[in-house]
Amino acid sequence: MTTLAFRNCRVLARNRLCEGLAVVVHEGQIEEICPEDQLSRNGLDVRDLGGMLLLPGFIDVQVNGGGGILFNEHTDVGGIRSIAEAHYQYGTTGFLPTLISDELDVVERALRASERAIDEGIPGVLGVHVEGPFLNPERRGVHDQNKLRRLTAETVASLKPLHNGKTVLTLAPEAVDRDAIANLVSSGFIVCAGHSDASYDETILALERGLRGFTHLFNAMSQLGAREPGVVGAALDDRDSWCGVIADFHHVNPASLRIAHRCKGADKLMLVTDAMPPVGSDMKQFRLLDKIVEVSDGVCRDQNGTLAGTALDMATAVRNMMKATGVALPQAVHMASTSPAAFLRIGEQVGTIDVGKRANFVVADDDLRVAMTWIDGKVVFEA
Ligand SMILES: [Zn+2]
Repeated sequence: MTTLAFRNCRVLARNRLCEGLAVVVHEGQIEEICPEDQLSRNGLDVRDLGGMLLLPGFIDVQVNGGGGILFNEHTDVGGIRSIAEAHYQYGTTGFLPTLISDELDVVERALRASERAIDEGIPGVLGVHVEGPFLNPERRGVHDQNKLRRLTAETVASLKPLHNGKTVLTLAPEAVDRDAIANLVSSGFIVCAGHSDASYDETILALERGLRGFTHLFNAMSQLGAREPGVVGAALDDRDSWCGVIADFHHVNPASLRIAHRCKGADKLMLVTDAMPPVGSDMKQFRLLDKIVEVSDGVCRDQNGTLAGTALDMATAVRNMMKATGVALPQAVHMASTSPAAFLRIGEQVGTIDVGKRANFVVADDDLRVAMTWIDGKVVFEA
């Protein structure tokens, strides 16, 4: 295998943009980061990036669809491949195909399809995210009420996490039996709270039982009040858990994004897209199970006006986070790469540009228009 070297770029390494560095990649891994003028080895395949940014690849833990495909309707390897390809063009190098509430046999198909996608080596598939059906009907958003159910001990016993990737399960703590969260965590699930009307106390109990994060903070959950801090209050106050946020300015006001950033810090905040089929396609309408969803000005709404996921991509989420919070590019990218990697417990392999890590990169201009996306030292997208 040839050894690659990227030069003439601004590398995001050690939390800042560094000039004059070259990044050497061998067998899909970052082998060396050195001053450009020390690139002396023979036989290097040197890529001149024309002064562009070289960033760690984005990791998106909530991707319902893309490229015209909805995961719920294509719980197979082909569906996952199409969704992946749609998101590569926005810098995504790792993602979890995300299933919204559906029948348990569809959940099972989604788990096994994700396993096969990883076995077949589809670049970027890190696991799966099962969002529901164990949610609170009062906070269901666009999820189908008829699909929602309680999570019983029997169902917990029947759910098997992926053997080769990460399995995130979003549930409402009040919609599950007492020991469900602890049992799921001990069998290998990463459990998040979402679509929940839980009280502050119920949420704290869930955290004590192993809850690791919160799905789309602020949206579809009990809000922060004076005497009842709700799920939002518990999430913002807790130092150990991660929060996904949808930075599209439609789901969350920029001021709320700033508050979340101040409370959680960049280490515990993750940018997610919650993307639907329109991302990476020009569709103006799609079917979400039994609903028709219209896309206009980048917003997806069902016929009742309820937000139904997004048409957001990761590069836009990073740009929006910079706009909302005033943070510089390295801190915004941290929330798109480093934090989700830590949340998934794969921070040793991905999430930053460091020696020994996988060669997952976004090459972009100063406006974060993506020119190239690399996974494991191979180009998966080129503009
Ligand atoms: Zn949701």
